[in-house]
Amino acid sequence: MSALAPWQQRVYDRAATALDNGRLGHGLLLCGPAQLGKREVAERLARRVLCASPVAGGEPCGLCRSCRLLDARSQADPVEVRPDGRLAHPWGHPAHPDLLLVGHAVNHKVRPPKPRSEIVIDQVRELGEQMALTPQYGRARVAIIDPGEALNTAAANALLKTLEEPVPGRYLWLVASEPARLPATIRSRCQKLEFRLPPREQARQWLLAQGHEPALAEEALEAARGHPGQAHAWLEAGVLELRREVAHGLDGIAGGSLAAPALAQAWCSDDRAGLRLRLAADLALARAAASLTDPVRTRSLAAWFDRANKARDLLRTTVRADLVVVELLLAWRAVHARPG
Ligand SMILES: [Zn+2]
Repeated sequence: MSALAPWQQRVYDRAATALDNGRLGHGLLLCGPAQLGKREVAERLARRVLCASPVAGGEPCGLCRSCRLLDARSQADPVEVRPDGRLAHPWGHPAHPDLLLVGHAVNHKVRPPKPRSEIVIDQVRELGEQMALTPQYGRARVAIIDPGEALNTAAANALLKTLEEPVPGRYLWLVASEPARLPATIRSRCQKLEFRLPPREQARQWLLAQGHEPALAEEALEAARGHPGQAHAWLEAGVLELRREVAHGLDGIAGGSLAAPALAQAWCSDDRAGLRLRLAADLALARAAASLTDPVRTRSLAAWFDRANKARDLLRTTVRADLVVVELLLAWRAVHARPG
């Protein structure tokens, strides 16, 4: 099993101590920025809870039936969709009968079947029934709901009942990168485990340990505003090249060498328009921070940052993407047009 990153280990250790001292709540909310590995920590904790013969320090043995069943599960992607649209390893039925996973289930009532955008009440009801059963391997039952903010209102209300009637040896863990979207009633009944961005140097060291070149690691960390998980994902997906392309495009618009409609079309020609706008917004923010001696420029760049984020939201609606982007690019040119 791979080592946890330092920021994951910090959270894991805290929860493990609470668990060992009998202070770990029935309901847990693992929250913090996306891509910091919250789910992985939840699964490691489940391993600790479910292992039948923990070794010194309470760590799972890796050899018992529970540990082996959990390993069997972790080798398969739980959201892998088979060609017929069914999940190869449906959520809620992992190899270990005492680990229950609830996520975006596949809706078979639509053709072709596709994952639902919300976690619905039937899933939570089924979870409640499962949680009421005796653990099959003795120690406990753990349910992980990920992403927690996908619970719709009815599902959240149903979950509240389960949270309000804690049963010993039953754990209900929610994973959420936007916990504010969860109902306050749910949040208040969960013990919070918060993931935070690590210090810059720690993030850099971690990226180097993942095998990235120092200069690229630095650039990615800059682009991701210090978020190592994001930087890693971007390095893997070649997003730095895209960021350079976006910067080049913005310079061309500012300097007048590129036409806004042509660039807008290029930006909207594939499924990365939203990502380009996000990168553009971040570039504007970085430039705003670098021009603090020029308050007018700082203000207009900050305003453009907001505008770019709003445009990104608009892309998810039915408006014509290229028209939204043209307006945004013309606004960028206006930001850089110097009076007189
Ligand atoms: Zn074990």
